[in-house]
Amino acid sequence: MNYYILDKTNIIEYLNSIENVKAYFGGDNLSIDEIGDGNLNFVFIIKSEKNKNKALILKQAVPYLRCVGEEFPLNRERMTYEIRALQSFSEKTPLHTPLIYDANEQMSAVVMQYLDEHIIMRKGLINEVIYPKFADHISTFLAHNLFKTSSLYLNSTSKRKCMDKFNSNTELCKLTEDFVFTFAFIEHETNDIYAKGHESAKKLFEDEKFKKAVLGLKYKFMTQSDALLHGDLHTGSIMLNKKQTYVIDPEFSFVGPFGFDIGALIGNLIMSYTSHMAQETEITYCEWILDLIEEVLTKFESKFLDLWNEQNESALITSTFIKEKELNEFKKEFMLNILRDTVGFSGCKMTRRMFGIAGVEDIREIKDLKKRDKAIKHTLKISKRFVKHYKEIENIQDVITIIKGDK
Ligand code: ADP
Ligand code: MG
Repeated sequence: MNYYILDKTNIIEYLNSIENVKAYFGGDNLSIDEIGDGNLNFVFIIKSEKNKNKALILKQAVPYLRCVGEEFPLNRERMTYEIRALQSFSEKTPLHTPLIYDANEQMSAVVMQYLDEHIIMRKGLINEVIYPKFADHISTFLAHNLFKTSSLYLNSTSKRKCMDKFNSNTELCKLTEDFVFTFAFIEHETNDIYAKGHESAKKLFEDEKFKKAVLGLKYKFMTQSDALLHGDLHTGSIMLNKKQTYVIDPEFSFVGPFGFDIGALIGNLIMSYTSHMAQETEITYCEWILDLIEEVLTKFESKFLDLWNEQNESALITSTFIKEKELNEFKKEFMLNILRDTVGFSGCKMTRRMFGIAGVEDIREIKDLKKRDKAIKHTLKISKRFVKHYKEIENIQDVITIIKGDK
């Protein structure tokens, strides 16, 4: 099938060519609405006119950036990697991945379950919603998807096949290299207007020790092929309610360092925390976010280790290679390195959101500029420490201590 751009005039015909989708709607008349609040792609809701509960999402990548237009070309092949990542996630964590009805790499389009009872997590956090199951769900998502695409689980051939399937997501990896690890830490034309003349921005851009540590983390991002990553796991890529959690939008997926997705998530939870602290939200909510961060880190570690303890053979280890005592020491050191990298990447992810091209609503939308500055300063205090000192982290409690500012 040759690629063409889908719009309201041709979507129905396209959907009618897909057996699975035709069977889902059973011949009902369909209505189409464009809902994309995202930046990159087109997202449509397709609803049955007879039964409004019957609905699916159609997402298509176009060969440019949706929010800017055709003058900002961006390869539509990003959807190839989103499709492949969604397929991998649905095999390993079906409860946390939208059901795929159709995926078409030629059309750069995917038809998936409409999450009608779920909202984007960032919005929920801004509105002070508590999600009691989230830490359990996301730690399962992270542990299973990371472990089962790594050399600790796969054999050597399968691991390299996995790398092959993802490693040409070059354009989006380059976007991360530029926007997460570079431009937001120097004077740059793409930075937010708010950075101009801002005292904290000036200080950040002159912080050579910080930038030296960033280089080490950027190098890890570029070279360390641990496992299949979502690649952009912020709270805007999670849809949830109090009972269920789904991860969406893995177009930045590639095989990269274990700590990168967890770091992105933790960083975004911390920005929710600093945002609420600056706005003097009920302290119980701020404390819930801190507990959540600790629970995510703890549960991830124990679930990842459980999976590892069940696995005797992998590309890395054969069952007779090493005695149990030394193997356990190796595992302990390994988990500590993941935690350290998580902290480092988390620091980069937070820092870049302060003055770089894409901010987070939690902080950029604080209308009271004094409070907004307070949130920025608080975030930078944590994020700069994370980046400069991630190698000194010894355990999860150290991370919480830095966030609380007790040390
Ligand atoms: P982009 O890649 O353009 O950022 P996203 O995948 O983030 O696109 O989707 C944009 C928005 O569309 C999301 O923020 C969410 O509101 C909505 N959306 C995406 N997928 C679904 C889904 N499966 N169910 C319900 N809403 C969805
Ligand atoms: Mg996206």
